[in-house]
Amino acid sequence: MSVAEIAARVRAGQSSAVSELESSLAAIESRNSELNVFLHVDEEGAYRAARAVDAAVGAGRDPGPLAGVTVALKDNMCTRGVPTTCSSRILEGWRPPYSATVVERLLGAGAVPVGKTNLDEFAMGSSTETSAFGPTRNPLDPSRVPGGSSGGSAAAVAAGMTAVSLGSDTGGSIRQPAALCGLVGVKPTYGLVSRYGLVAFASSLDQIGPFARSVADAAGVLEVIAGHDPLDSTSLPEPAPELVSHLDDGVAGRTVGLVAELLEGADADVVGAVRRAAEVLARAGARIEEISIPELHLGLSAYYLIAPAEASSNLARYDGVRYGLRVPGENVSEMNERTRTEGFGDEVKRRIMLGTYALSAGYYDAYYGQALKVRTRMIEAFGRAYERCDVLLGATAPSVAFALGAKTLDPLAMYLSDVFTIPTNLAGEAAISVPFGTGEAGLPIGVQLLGPGRSEARLLAAAAVLEGSR
Ligand code: GLN
Repeated sequence: MSVAEIAARVRAGQSSAVSELESSLAAIESRNSELNVFLHVDEEGAYRAARAVDAAVGAGRDPGPLAGVTVALKDNMCTRGVPTTCSSRILEGWRPPYSATVVERLLGAGAVPVGKTNLDEFAMGSSTETSAFGPTRNPLDPSRVPGGSSGGSAAAVAAGMTAVSLGSDTGGSIRQPAALCGLVGVKPTYGLVSRYGLVAFASSLDQIGPFARSVADAAGVLEVIAGHDPLDSTSLPEPAPELVSHLDDGVAGRTVGLVAELLEGADADVVGAVRRAAEVLARAGARIEEISIPELHLGLSAYYLIAPAEASSNLARYDGVRYGLRVPGENVSEMNERTRTEGFGDEVKRRIMLGTYALSAGYYDAYYGQALKVRTRMIEAFGRAYERCDVLLGATAPSVAFALGAKTLDPLAMYLSDVFTIPTNLAGEAAISVPFGTGEAGLPIGVQLLGPGRSEARLLAAAAVLEGSR
């Protein structure tokens, strides 16, 4: 059932938020031990939210556009009084004293947050295997990864545990797991969705967005969580855009750029799916232009300087004093060192070292400064592409879901999972992954549609054309 149908039935009293919640809890019960999707199920909070929705309906009040819709939250979004771990030992036992703006907005719209999902530690990874609490498995094939870092949120929706979920995307962590789990995933324009209460990884890149089983569901959730928030100084100063009312806009008269660099190195089944997607858009009235944006080759190296640099600064706050874990020592600096040594996993340590090095005196200009210049060049290159094209098209990920363990020993191979998604984050622009066809072993393939800042309505309409042709 779609999000709109669930909400309509709950609003009309034909279903109840409590019964929606109960089917969600039953689905979690049946597969969570196998798949390791939820780190924490907040039954108490979920029942409280669901009962409030049902009470509103009973009293003739409208609970909102997401009435009774169950939602899973990536465990890097703060939820008041509920453990928020970022899948790291270092946040063990920490319960935030406030909730993220997205959580408040979901509750305000009648949604029912069910719990917190597994992720790569501090959202650093592409497979959900760097979690301190073990990997999440792909519900479509449990021998494979769900993608990452928002793998738990993707798996929750793919396994039917919740109607929708939220993830965060710093370099691809919504779009890539969406592709690997056969879902729609949106990376909104930087600033469209408030980051207040999202635990920071790389603050100039992080954005929250939805996972959903359909384009319409994703649009419905994004409308609720988007819009200005005075608590986030980087929030765009405007209300949420209208998305649902534009879903049928189509692509007639649009120019779609099929980007060579967004296919390079992808498996043949993925390339084939993207080319078929271009044909579908052409049949729907779009003009397809094959284009090249060579600057995209620079994305991965710029990202792996900028993101770790910001992370090394953001993660300095985990000092054994302010949050979670504390491992005692003889003095403060020893306590600090032991806490961080035991609290952080290998990938997080690798990023902190990379970032600290890139920012250190003597190397700053050569690494971090240079990466910022590259970032500017990429923004300009996208700008030129969008003078000619309304939408860009490419692959989301180079392959379908890969086997657990396939890339854990080779960080560079893992980093390459995001080669097609990272450029959007560096530019601060919008992109969406939509399932389109299947590849190896019958697993889903995601194609990526990219647009300039604030182009979400246009991208969702184009994604709806692809969805409708399946
Ligand atoms: N896989 C990328 C990384 O490891 C992106 C992660 C993300 O978007 N959070 O940094």
